[in-house]
Amino acid sequence: MPTLITRDEALEQIRRDGGSPPCLMCAIRDRRVGATYAVFEDEDVLVFLPRFVRRWGHVVVMPRRHVVTYRGIEPALWARVNADAHHAARMLERVRQPVRTYITSTGSSAGELTQTSMHLHVHVIPLYDNLDRPADVFSWQAGVWVAEHDEWEALRAEYAAEWTVVDPGADPGGG
Ligand SMILES: [Zn+2]
Repeated sequence: MPTLITRDEALEQIRRDGGSPPCLMCAIRDRRVGATYAVFEDEDVLVFLPRFVRRWGHVVVMPRRHVVTYRGIEPALWARVNADAHHAARMLERVRQPVRTYITSTGSSAGELTQTSMHLHVHVIPLYDNLDRPADVFSWQAGVWVAEHDEWEALRAEYAAEWTVVDPGADPGGG
């Protein structure tokens, strides 16, 4: 079962896994900070499971290329990243049945420290409690969930299989 650890324990584990790379997202892409659980990747985009999460089932979509500003990314690539975030959110609705889902690109207030990064990326986070607020989900003060390799791999495999499902498209009834 996934385990809730403290923020300090998480930071210690991150340091053990690969220290403080100049860019955490590039390091994840290049498999330089422990295992990367890739749900999908091609020449433009990487979709992966972050290994320290506030809500189980969290997915991140990032452009493979190192880019840190919206002015630095062409509209077509940013549209692709967001289309994949939408695809991920639909997948989460099918397999996790969240009460709602956050899709957000927050930037980083902490450099490359706490599993966040200047390298543009989009969080897709399933919520299971309708009372959850951004402060509950984006802060590690109440701890962070981690899991064993086989648990991450099982989730990755579930999502990777589900990623290929062609969603029937917009549902006028809202699902
Ligand atoms: Zn980068």
